[in-house]
Amino acid sequence: MRKSWNRLKHARHLLCLLLLFGLLILPVAQSAAAPRIPQQQLDIAFDLAGHRLTGTSRITIPAQTAVTVSLIGIEITALQLDGVPLQATEQVSIPPTAKDRQVAISFSKTVAGSQTDGLIDHTGIALTGLWHPRLDTDCLQELTVAIPKQFEAISEAEEISSTVAGNIRTVRFRFDHPADSLNFVAGPYVVEHQPITPGQTLYSYFFTEDKELAAEYRKKTLAYLKRYQELIGPYPYKRFSIVENRLPTGYAIPTFTLLGQAVVRLPFITETSLGHEVLHSWFGNAVGVDASQGNWCEALTTYLADQAFAADKRTDAGFRKQQLITYQSYVGADNTKALKDFSGASNHVASGDKANRAVGYDKGSMLFHMLLREIGDAPFYAGLREFYARFRNQQATWQDLAASFSTSSHQNLEPFFSQWLNRADVPRLELADSLKEKDGQIELTLTIKQLQEKPYRLRLPLDIVTAKGKERREVTLTDTETKLTVSLADYPTLVIGDPDYDLMRSLAPEELPPTWSRFLGARERLAIIPETEDRQIYAPFIELLTSMDCPVKTASEATDKDLAGKSVIFLGTDSRLARSLFAPSTQSASGFSLEARENPLTPGQVAVLIASASAAETAAAAPKLTHYGKYSALHFNLGRVDRKTIAETDQGIRLAIDTPPWGIAMPQALSFAAIMEQIGDKRVVYVGESHTRNEDHLLQLRVIRGLFAQNPKLAIGMEMFSREAQPVLDRYVAGELSEKEFLKQSGYFSKWSFDYRLYREIINIARRNKLPIIALNQEKELVSKVFKEGAAALTAEELAKIPADRDLTLPGYRERITDVFAMHGQHSAPEQINGFFQAQALWDETMAESVTTFLTAHPESRMVVLAGQGHTDKATAIPPRVARRMPSIRQAVILNSENEALDQAEADYLIFSKPVELPPAGVLGVMLANTPEGPRVEGLTEKSKAGVAGIEKKDVILALDDEPVATIDDLKIILLGKEIGKQVTVRIKRKSGGWFRQEAILSIPVVL
Ligand SMILES: [Zn+2]
Repeated sequence: MRKSWNRLKHARHLLCLLLLFGLLILPVAQSAAAPRIPQQQLDIAFDLAGHRLTGTSRITIPAQTAVTVSLIGIEITALQLDGVPLQATEQVSIPPTAKDRQVAISFSKTVAGSQTDGLIDHTGIALTGLWHPRLDTDCLQELTVAIPKQFEAISEAEEISSTVAGNIRTVRFRFDHPADSLNFVAGPYVVEHQPITPGQTLYSYFFTEDKELAAEYRKKTLAYLKRYQELIGPYPYKRFSIVENRLPTGYAIPTFTLLGQAVVRLPFITETSLGHEVLHSWFGNAVGVDASQGNWCEALTTYLADQAFAADKRTDAGFRKQQLITYQSYVGADNTKALKDFSGASNHVASGDKANRAVGYDKGSMLFHMLLREIGDAPFYAGLREFYARFRNQQATWQDLAASFSTSSHQNLEPFFSQWLNRADVPRLELADSLKEKDGQIELTLTIKQLQEKPYRLRLPLDIVTAKGKERREVTLTDTETKLTVSLADYPTLVIGDPDYDLMRSLAPEELPPTWSRFLGARERLAIIPETEDRQIYAPFIELLTSMDCPVKTASEATDKDLAGKSVIFLGTDSRLARSLFAPSTQSASGFSLEARENPLTPGQVAVLIASASAAETAAAAPKLTHYGKYSALHFNLGRVDRKTIAETDQGIRLAIDTPPWGIAMPQALSFAAIMEQIGDKRVVYVGESHTRNEDHLLQLRVIRGLFAQNPKLAIGMEMFSREAQPVLDRYVAGELSEKEFLKQSGYFSKWSFDYRLYREIINIARRNKLPIIALNQEKELVSKVFKEGAAALTAEELAKIPADRDLTLPGYRERITDVFAMHGQHSAPEQINGFFQAQALWDETMAESVTTFLTAHPESRMVVLAGQGHTDKATAIPPRVARRMPSIRQAVILNSENEALDQAEADYLIFSKPVELPPAGVLGVMLANTPEGPRVEGLTEKSKAGVAGIEKKDVILALDDEPVATIDDLKIILLGKEIGKQVTVRIKRKSGGWFRQEAILSIPVVL
């Protein structure tokens, strides 16, 4: 209600919301020496039991003056112009005439129900909305009220006088500053006062039940008044009152601040909002805002109060970072606006207004912070004092402010104000470096890029960190790219851009924590709600989401494809989809908890996990949540927050410069035997491989022999086989199959395809010693289905084969997979990265599950795991996923050192092996395709042995050395036994073309 009339009819009114509630500032304009202006005299009486006021208004309009009287919100019982009755309409226009005119209005208003701007009952009266006739221009107002004698009353006033007759107290308010409307509050207040300066008095109007708080409020208010008198100039009125309100308000009104009872009781209000409200006496009330030119007063007040209070406590860098996080959470390309277009904020908590406030308060106060850094303290405060002195009792604009500061600093600040007021974007910075040694010095060249469309002029502070300490530099950026070269005596390790958050800018991803506000401010959102049985628990929260226009799907309607590209919220700890990203939840089972994390599928978006113990817990917490946007994790116990944290993020834009290589001190080098001894107590030993490097497989063999010698209860887990091959592996190890039958039945060549000789001895040692070989991997078809169509495309039977808990959020995992994707990614579209990422996780999780299933069923067994180096990564691949399932398990990762950079986190032991090549395999040198008749030659290699012997394209291979060949696998299995240089006989079928289609069966000798 307030919002609508305020915007439509009284654009000059300002509303500002601090913390939880709105704060109203009614600007007073024009000096008392201005020409004659209209006057209104109001006489009001109350019927508390009827929640009703009745009143009369007598308006005097000077000659030659046109006014419109608004009667919206009140009921008119009589209306006369110069004694002649008039028809009452919402707007009554009075044209200018040669003589003064008189308007007389009798009116009433009933305030029923709960409204934030109206209350009339035995507990008190609060009227801050539409409760009396209003002129469309400022006028001098005089108010007389009749209230119960036990009430005290307050309104905009320099002087208040009161008389009591019988049970009625009559109070008169005199206010010399023109205004377009009045606010009025009364109640059973305990009124106390003390002097501010001679002639200025500070009052408190507190309810009996809160009167103990009044002294502290007056003490703090006095300190604020003193602080701002010294900083800006004299306090502009004769009185200042702190007034408690039954309604949940937080308004700054000329001569008083009106704070809701619930607000007054919050312990931190005197440290924060109170000072902000007091400061509005200078800016907002004494110096008014011409809102058509943009509202500067919330920006300035937030800077001189909220930011300044944080600076008093030396937490201003963190405060400004929080402002930038808020800005980034709510303001995006689609709803951004220039600071000049901010005209005020309503007390609406919808995210639309949060974006508006982030511009007007957060970005606005950053402007003043940057201005002070630009011109220096003394010119800044001199400009501020000059501005106040010049515009007191008038309205001022951004341009007036710019002029004051330009004068005080002797600088042309037009370009500074112009870029920060007129541009709707904010700077986005990126640092890059190059390091070189020159003439005994280390030369660091930093490249600072401005990524937004057009460069800003910025003064960027930089910290350059070396082993010896930190060095602060400042560089002025004017172009899209700026280079800075610094000579240093020592290697720099780190450069931090804008370490203290001195610039209004977009935060780097590493600086931006996952927070609840980022979900609230997200443009694309989705809520995944539980199926019917659990939904009741979350009903109040689902209502909240619906009121935020957040689309809702049940867990069975949503697919994993739905999770990408947006911010997602999961209700319930057992959400299948949540588990496919974050593995099982670790959230508390009691109370109500909220946890925001980065959405692993889409950088820049968040995923929020909600867990509640009961519908009562949800109902108690849900209404509180909008006040806790800045947090990453929250826990409520029956609506009372008992844990709140913000995820740690980088301070400043961090650029790691010189990461020195790591090494091993030679005395620490261990013999292979010593390593085997050290890993004797490990239950899982991973030996990572590059699939084609023979020395990796020889190392695997050596480790298997060593572990077997320690304890024969050993299993070999292999990535190379997927779980459906387990029965074939079991039968081969048991000696029930020949090697050829094993290779054929396990589909080794079609499924894995690397030279079997690389694995042959490993598998043979298992067979000889009856060591179980455990197929670790997932069926390829199933993974590729997940990659292409998402897990939702799986049938129930297929779904049962994959682990439900899949953790995509292990630190460094996405970065590593992204690198792999970039290397293999020529065949994939960039948007397939998420499918690739999910498929990799599915692989790692499946293998981890295979490992733990076996070890749980065989408590005495150990396992050696053979898998590609990407899957043995100690920090992000199979090992941490095994540890998640079996928390106390001891594991070790062994890798052959390759001549490439290895991350220390990848392995526990590095082995230095000599390269060992396999002898070349006997091959035909043909490209084949399976056909119903047998493998058909599709092509020949350059030096094809088969080609030399006379085999041609389109020949179908039927047998090799009399062993029948039906598939490519068959041929590979037979060739496995044939060495290079040996002669084999290939039987083929050849079709000849021409009129008569003929077939010939030929036996061709080929030397391999
Ligand atoms: Zn404010």
